[in-house]
Amino acid sequence: MNLAVTPLAQSLVSPDWTLLRNLGIGLVVVVWLATAYWTFKDARRRIEDPWLIALATLVGLFPPFLGPIIYMFLRPPEYIQDARERELEIKAMEERLSRLDQRCPVCRARVEPSYLVCPVCTTRLKQACPGCGQPLESLWQVCPYCATEIPPGLPSFEDVSATQRRSSRRTTASDN
Ligand SMILES: [Zn+2]
Ligand SMILES: [Zn+2]
Repeated sequence: MNLAVTPLAQSLVSPDWTLLRNLGIGLVVVVWLATAYWTFKDARRRIEDPWLIALATLVGLFPPFLGPIIYMFLRPPEYIQDARERELEIKAMEERLSRLDQRCPVCRARVEPSYLVCPVCTTRLKQACPGCGQPLESLWQVCPYCATEIPPGLPSFEDVSATQRRSSRRTTASDN
């Protein structure tokens, strides 16, 4: 009778340690791989160089669990996406500022986009539309205000400023 009870009692008192140990090891490995995968995913959003991403993933793997913490201290502070958006914003702001800060190519006086002539040095800045007299940008092929087609013969802003600069240089040269 004793012989029959003993194995049952034993299995109740002492659980299957091998199974528990294997489950524990499995859990630790899963968590370890998950932290390494997190490191890889985070590195991909912050680093562009594929070799550095691979290196960060390696650090995420070894030393286990400590690696991701080391990586967190060393990783770039912001996402690539955020950095790109910020660069675009800065560029757009600079463009807006440069549009606000238009200057006469000859005397550097501040001019408005609507000016046809520099009020300080009388340099011709833009051509007026033959139909409505609005100032025209150099790239426009048709007037946006009255839909008059702009004849290709009209010199653009750049051409005008170039000839003005040349003529002003010529006058200063003849003055000397
Ligand atoms: Zn001027
Ligand atoms: Zn017009």
